[in-house]
Amino acid sequence: MNREFRSTIIAGNWKMNMLSTGLKAYAEELLPLIPGYKSWCETVVCAPFVLLGEVLRVFEKSGVGTGAQNMSQHGSGAYTGEVSAAQLVDLGVEYVIIGHSERRELYGETDASVNAKVLAATEASLHPIVCVGESMRQREIGVTYDVVSMQVKAALFGLPSEQLHGVIIAYEPIWAIGTGMTATPTDAQDVCRHIRSVISSLYGEQAAQAVPILYGGSMNDKNALELLAQPDIDGGLIGGASLKPEAFAVIVNAANQ
Ligand code: PEP
Repeated sequence: MNREFRSTIIAGNWKMNMLSTGLKAYAEELLPLIPGYKSWCETVVCAPFVLLGEVLRVFEKSGVGTGAQNMSQHGSGAYTGEVSAAQLVDLGVEYVIIGHSERRELYGETDASVNAKVLAATEASLHPIVCVGESMRQREIGVTYDVVSMQVKAALFGLPSEQLHGVIIAYEPIWAIGTGMTATPTDAQDVCRHIRSVISSLYGEQAAQAVPILYGGSMNDKNALELLAQPDIDGGLIGGASLKPEAFAVIVNAANQ
């Protein structure tokens, strides 16, 4: 983390979990355990579309932000089943995860669709949390840096420099997501620093220093402190551990140290 230049963000990705009936209890357990508005760190919960309204309600005036897990790249029209950036903003949502590896692998998201969504999100003043990361095979053959460079460049293609300030990048090695295998703090730091250098090559060093870069991939209450102590890791995108308020709170508090 480097609070001189950029925000610290802990974002929970609930994936396709939780029901409306459990949200009040979740918020009641989490909120007393975290510092809320007084903290350094922005805490965000990224929920399924159907729960966003209720998530906004239970976290109202708490300092916890709300995010979606996907959005359409289109503004409006005949796109059955899709949700636009404007509709998310209209609801009060501030963040949106874009290009999560599960969406790339299971739902055909491409670098091109990720790019279109990043442009649509920033245009609507949503903060995109743009996910990049290599597979185990790519790590083994030594192309991790090439893969994340390409993903970052593709995601930001055509993004004007004045829109960069709202963008968040999440480095999520695919092999670490939901597996219990975490990148070592040093490996995660090296890739996050590389991502920052790619952003610097596109927008200049000062702009790159202001972009929060999160680590995601089996971050939990035990390993968060060490990962978050790295200078280029500005927070976390947390899957499994964000479903347990107590564990999520430990991570938020680690980011506030
Ligand atoms: C994720 O879904 O983005 C994620 C990092 O999941 P987990 O923390 O469960 O590995």
